[in-house]
Amino acid sequence: MKKTTTRLADGRELIYYDADDTADPVVRDAVDRRPLEPVATHSELRHDPLLGDTVAIASHRQGRTYHPPADQCPLCPSDSGGRLSEIPDTDYEVVVFENRFPSLAGGAGRCEVVCFTSDHDASFADLTEARARLVLDAWVDRTRELSQLPGVVQVFPFENRGKEIGVTLGHPHGQIYAYPFVTPRTALMLRTLDEHRERTGRNLFDDVLADEAADGRRIVLAAEHWTAFVPHAAHWPYEVHLFPRRRVPDLLALDEDARAEFPRVYLELLRRFDRIFGPDQPPTPYISGWHQAPFDAPGRRDFGLHLELFTIRRTSGKLKYLAGSESGMGAFINDVPPEVAAQRLREVASQ
Ligand SMILES: [Zn+2]
Repeated sequence: MKKTTTRLADGRELIYYDADDTADPVVRDAVDRRPLEPVATHSELRHDPLLGDTVAIASHRQGRTYHPPADQCPLCPSDSGGRLSEIPDTDYEVVVFENRFPSLAGGAGRCEVVCFTSDHDASFADLTEARARLVLDAWVDRTRELSQLPGVVQVFPFENRGKEIGVTLGHPHGQIYAYPFVTPRTALMLRTLDEHRERTGRNLFDDVLADEAADGRRIVLAAEHWTAFVPHAAHWPYEVHLFPRRRVPDLLALDEDARAEFPRVYLELLRRFDRIFGPDQPPTPYISGWHQAPFDAPGRRDFGLHLELFTIRRTSGKLKYLAGSESGMGAFINDVPPEVAAQRLREVASQ
């Protein structure tokens, strides 16, 4: 992998990741020629006294780009005809840059955009295994780099796919949030992990994986280094958790065998997701994200890196909305039994 770091006109960092597998070395020396003013980002972290969690108030985000026409896509490469985008070069493989409209900014974390391909009309599921591997390498590299920033506690690479999820740009891309605090879900997992250790003397992630493998009904895909299953108490209509078989706290600790097998496994899961609702349905909206251990939490060594992938679509043309019970109380009601969801995800396996 070759990494080239540059700066955009307003000072934001941009990094090209190239597989660099050809005889000609890739040169990335295009300069951002846009007359960009630095964005006045003002992000404030507020503490909720009742729940004990943190909310980022980011008022500058109201002005962000919203569903631009395809020929004005800010994530497509710039073209030699003079159309200038966020990416100065006229082509790229994988590129990462600081979000112009970050939710977290100004010494309170960092938000980055990850473009998976320069092909505007593709999706992650269309990528080759080699490209998916390059994306994984970029996630690993970003986790390492962001962990070095002052105040960053936790790194969350994720992808929102589909306008149903609130995606404002159609170009295939994901994001990385580097939080200056431990997120509520991770804090909850760390607490449960501790309690389980105290009660049983064992590791909760290991036990969950062993229980799912022994039961078998919710296993979606069992590879050599990864296991994908629908959790016993899935919150979402179709939800898959992907665990490496050898538990590690974060992407940095993932061994080469697991990294090498990941592209095939993950692409297969995404392709199955697009087939859940039948051949004539629009692409399945989904959220996919890496759960990693915070960098210096006490329970860090016990934490199990895993990916959670889920869709908010429950049946053709119908979405699961977070209504009263979920939004008001955080108590989920799921209409699709996890065993039925797993069965469906096995039925739509690639031949
Ligand atoms: Zn585009």
